[in-house]
Amino acid sequence: MTFNDLGLSEELLKAVTACGFETPSEIQEKSIPELLNTERDYVGLAQTGTGKTAAFGLPMIQQIDTDFNAIQGLVLCPTRELCIQIAREMTNYAKYSKGVKVVAVYGGASIQDQIRAIKNGANIIIGTPGRTIDLIGRKALKFDSVSKVVLDEADEMLNMGFKEDINEILESTPAFKRVWLFSATMPREVERISSNYMEDPIKVTVGTKNSSAANIEHKFCLVQGRDKYSALKRFADHYPGMFGIVFCRTRRDTQEVAAKLMNDGYNADALHGDLSQGQRDTVMKKFRNKTITMLIATDVAARGIDVDDVSHVFHYDLPDEIESYTHRSGRTGRAGKSGISIALIAPQKSGKIKLIEKKIGKTLELVKAPSGQDICGMQLMKMIKNVQEVEIDQKGIAPFVAQIHEALADFSKEEIIERFVSVEFNSFLKEYAKSGDINVDPSRIRKGADDRFNDRGRGRSDRGGDRGERRSSRGGETNTKRVFINVGKMDGFENKGQLLGFLCNQSGVDGGSLGKIDLFDSFSFVGVDDGVGEKMISAMNGQNIENRDIRVEFSQDKPQGERGGGRGGNRGGGERKSFGGNRSGGDRRSGGDRRSGGGDRRRSDAGSTESRAGGERNFRERRRRS
Ligand code: AMP
Repeated sequence: MTFNDLGLSEELLKAVTACGFETPSEIQEKSIPELLNTERDYVGLAQTGTGKTAAFGLPMIQQIDTDFNAIQGLVLCPTRELCIQIAREMTNYAKYSKGVKVVAVYGGASIQDQIRAIKNGANIIIGTPGRTIDLIGRKALKFDSVSKVVLDEADEMLNMGFKEDINEILESTPAFKRVWLFSATMPREVERISSNYMEDPIKVTVGTKNSSAANIEHKFCLVQGRDKYSALKRFADHYPGMFGIVFCRTRRDTQEVAAKLMNDGYNADALHGDLSQGQRDTVMKKFRNKTITMLIATDVAARGIDVDDVSHVFHYDLPDEIESYTHRSGRTGRAGKSGISIALIAPQKSGKIKLIEKKIGKTLELVKAPSGQDICGMQLMKMIKNVQEVEIDQKGIAPFVAQIHEALADFSKEEIIERFVSVEFNSFLKEYAKSGDINVDPSRIRKGADDRFNDRGRGRSDRGGDRGERRSSRGGETNTKRVFINVGKMDGFENKGQLLGFLCNQSGVDGGSLGKIDLFDSFSFVGVDDGVGEKMISAMNGQNIENRDIRVEFSQDKPQGERGGGRGGNRGGGERKSFGGNRSGGDRRSGGDRRSGGGDRRRSDAGSTESRAGGERNFRERRRRS
């Protein structure tokens, strides 16, 4: 099938060609004709990176009546990054469709500028829920003429606590509008939205529900926690063209891993919630233009990242919630390209492998962290390829040729090759020859899915230093009321103590009036004394964390994890997060400026046996240039 077969206008076909799209993706093939012709609501289940934006964007643009100066299409999406990306794509698609105006509205940017842009005429709004609500409140956005609403990445929006906002926004749109919902998964909450706001929708699934894209290879590498960093570097060295995202669970981990990689000469940087919007934009810009080839990110910060060509996703730590594994892996294998997802797993966490396999419907292949010899071989061949392909500047080297020939006259061709290669490789080979096998024997893989994925009911794997059961100051009894808050580990709270501090600071309530805290990946529950829940709710609702609204409400259900019992179970049997003290010296490289060109070859022979000097750095220098 071609784009010509989908019923698109000449203008849109021209734009699609200008974007370089040759054939429609599966979701486009299935959605575009339906969305152009049907008056029914629509549910499209497809992973990120499958071409969803064009799947809803092209039909939406085509159905805009440009003689009618009003907002006719609304796209809601979870993050600022995604919002900007969708607006950019849709603007490209609308390039030849005269009069179609796309305006993006999202937090962390001037609301006045956005109001001005809306006033200048907008017929399609791409918005994040929080900012959209804000603009509705200011009467800058009116949706009474909206005929199409897209809920993009609906599952992510609900994960991020936007349920109420979505409801409110949908309430402000007319009854005649159609809803097109796109989601990677269909959890019950999304089903609920679809049944509340959609009538008998057409349902289209691309790929297997809840499974990962077919073009992603899923692998895991069994190493001790202390060897994860070495393993990561070995993979980076083994894949010279790697362009990857490394997922860690906390902001601090991303910073530590990124700092170590940068110190070791890699083009890496961290993306996490402590960065200002400007810093995030800068990091993302560097990643997009490949100045950075390894992005170390938390799950929250990486939401909405849609950079094509990501070749590898590493799970430095497995996420608490299995759903996140699919989202992480989906950052590679985009736009029909292939990708590799590698989880670095310590034996005591290997019970989770079965759970992931069950979820994605695929087997995770065990791969070994490359040996020194593997890496040297790979890099050597890359170097030889560079030698084969290098363009020779005849004119530039002409003055030196005679002198060079004379100096090398006594060597045979074989000797010259060996010597040139050795100049690059001596120290590198030496270093990796000393690095042992860090792979753990596969017989240590836990057979059963014995390790719960999320935190419910767990305790053993909670971090050391975490607080155990808290009881309120009053009479030592567990509180009868609990509040739900849509903030959790993904927001960087590593332990309950940190969350407690945050809650007290933000709401002004006294820590003694808060009870048991259950800290989950993307949300938490806190026991509260009488009257305290109300105070927290009124103080914290409307506040912001990482550009999304904080939601606090009384909990209806007791979470599974809530149980009686004392402090037991928080002793940190799980993986250590910090590198401190875990690193063997064997992974350290010598200091000095690894970023500068040349020069360090001298150091390569003088360096300690633990240092990796010139050779390896040169590979990266080359990689950077190539
Ligand atoms: P999306 O899932 O909409 O974020 O799209 C992922 C990437 O694929 C974006 O960079 C799109 O520009 C690109 N893309 C979308 N449709 C096609 C297509 N039919 N052919 C090639 N690339 C596409």
